[in-house]
Amino acid sequence: MQDTTVLPIWKTITKSLVESLFGKRACKMYPVQEPVFFERTRGRIEIESSKCIVCTLCAKKCPAGAIVVDKEKNTWQIDRFRCILCNACMEICKPDALTMVNQYAGPVVSNQIESVPVTPPKRKKKPEAPPSATEKAEAAPPAEEKLEAPEPTEGENG
Ligand code: SF4
Ligand code: SF4
Repeated sequence: MQDTTVLPIWKTITKSLVESLFGKRACKMYPVQEPVFFERTRGRIEIESSKCIVCTLCAKKCPAGAIVVDKEKNTWQIDRFRCILCNACMEICKPDALTMVNQYAGPVVSNQIESVPVTPPKRKKKPEAPPSATEKAEAAPPAEEKLEAPEPTEGENG
């Protein structure tokens, strides 16, 4: 007696095999064929260093710990192997220093942490408030004590 369950499986496998070998390609011939990037493709995060104010919010918000901001050295670093392209850093950046570029980062053979020097704007000094009456009084020099003339002794008057 013939097994009726095996035959349809072989039919399906043979059909898939023939389609794969002679049918239309399902994948793109990258890098021979240029990939198409859409406007909202999440390719890679880039920074406009002149806009960065070194606030460190992006590093705090990054769920993958891919960003390190050094306030002392004024550098912004990204570990692209850690980045999961979630967009969180870009959304939190108030001065719009970060953008999601719709092109992927180039291929690398080892992990390289990109370090970008940033030039944070110098903070303006607040104008000093005029001193209050109490401060003025405290700052004033102490009033000179009156020097009393020494009383004349008997011998001096004769
Ligand atoms: S896109 Fe997401 S994972 Fe990548 S650096 Fe920004 S916050 Fe981190
Ligand atoms: S890139 Fe934006 S969020 Fe990150 S430190 Fe610079 S200003 Fe702050």
